[in-house]
Amino acid sequence: MIDLHCHLDLYPNPRETADACKLKQIFVLSMTTTPSAWEGTSALAAGAARIRTALGIHPQIAHQRIKELDLFERFLPVTRYVGEVGLDGSPELRVHWDSQVTVFRRVLDLCRKIGGRVLSIHSRRAASAVLDSLESSPHGGTSILHWFSGTKRELDRAIALGCWFSVGPAMLAGEKGRALVSTMPRDRVLTETDGPFAQVGGRAANPWDVVIAENELAKLWSVPRHEVETALDENFRRLLGAGEDPMF
Ligand code: MN
Repeated sequence: MIDLHCHLDLYPNPRETADACKLKQIFVLSMTTTPSAWEGTSALAAGAARIRTALGIHPQIAHQRIKELDLFERFLPVTRYVGEVGLDGSPELRVHWDSQVTVFRRVLDLCRKIGGRVLSIHSRRAASAVLDSLESSPHGGTSILHWFSGTKRELDRAIALGCWFSVGPAMLAGEKGRALVSTMPRDRVLTETDGPFAQVGGRAANPWDVVIAENELAKLWSVPRHEVETALDENFRRLLGAGEDPMF
């Protein structure tokens, strides 16, 4: 099982959730929403061969954390993974749009300078603006659009730009999400939960709820579950670069 985007540090008992992931041998990419959370969150991955921590500045709080870009730059050399970063075009955040763009562009630039990173990117109501940024700063690394909710046209553009996609139970529960996922190249799709923010069945999603996404993918792709698992496993290894990360 692979949860390419969740927030271990935001569960009520982060240690317990991290330990459960270890026990279940789930590959987890654990997001941070702010650079000052980096040390505490990466400590949750200590001794867990399959948990990696991503360094992030979440677009919804980027305007409050712009001063933490220095901290972002300081921690960037110690991780290959960046997230959660991106842009959010929700009406209530419009007033902070310029700060969001400044932070995201700076993040992409720092990633480029250091030779590229694997990025998990938020693009709610901002798909075109995120793609504009990726197009104008094309060497930040490998971009994974998490819970993509743009239009079909924006999806086509993202595919052409080489983006990957992480899709979860919440996205696959809706007609629009399923239609988008069915258009994504199967060799660039991975699973996520976005727990504990995202819900399944009225409760916070746990990383092991990616099985729900695997089942939905099996239906969408009309293949048995084990073939989905094999495809996701191959994608994961290709994405993160077998041999470059000691978890393989
Ligand atoms: Mn998230």
